[in-house]
Amino acid sequence: MSQSVYETPKSNTQAVNALEWDGYNYKIQDPAKLPSVCVSCGGESDLVCVHKKLNYVHPATLLWIILGPIVLLIAYVVSLKSIKVEFQRCQSCHQKKTFWSKLNIATWISFIGFIALAFVVEGSLRSFCSIMIFVSFFFGLFTLVMQDPGFSVKAHNKPYFYLKGFKKEVAKKFAMKTAKS
Ligand SMILES: [Zn+2]
Repeated sequence: MSQSVYETPKSNTQAVNALEWDGYNYKIQDPAKLPSVCVSCGGESDLVCVHKKLNYVHPATLLWIILGPIVLLIAYVVSLKSIKVEFQRCQSCHQKKTFWSKLNIATWISFIGFIALAFVVEGSLRSFCSIMIFVSFFFGLFTLVMQDPGFSVKAHNKPYFYLKGFKKEVAKKFAMKTAKS
């Protein structure tokens, strides 16, 4: 049977559902869809669908730093692999994450703002800006961690990606859901 050119690639949807769970890692293919479980708390009601693009760079890529930051940047961009992941989060976890992600953006904007301000003001006001640059930088990193989805891409082996970092209660539910389907 020849495949029609007009046919939508159905096999993709198949691959999406054919997830493998080895107890720690989730083997997925782009685009991936995780089971209907809140990825933050394992809850199964009031779920909100979230789409996120996750990036992965092989850790060895960082070794290019030996040849300088520009080479590292090029190597980073070239070896960057990204995957679209659709997952669920319950209403309350979602609100928390949205809060932190907005705060994260606001913090980086003020970080840049204080740097710009430090150039125009003088004296004690400039010292104040320096402190605020420092504070907003670390608060920015903190909010970045807080808005993190709670899992990340651990490895990539074309065409598969491996997710890790799920909480125990979430991992347990995933195992159950994957076994069922
Ligand atoms: Zn939740």
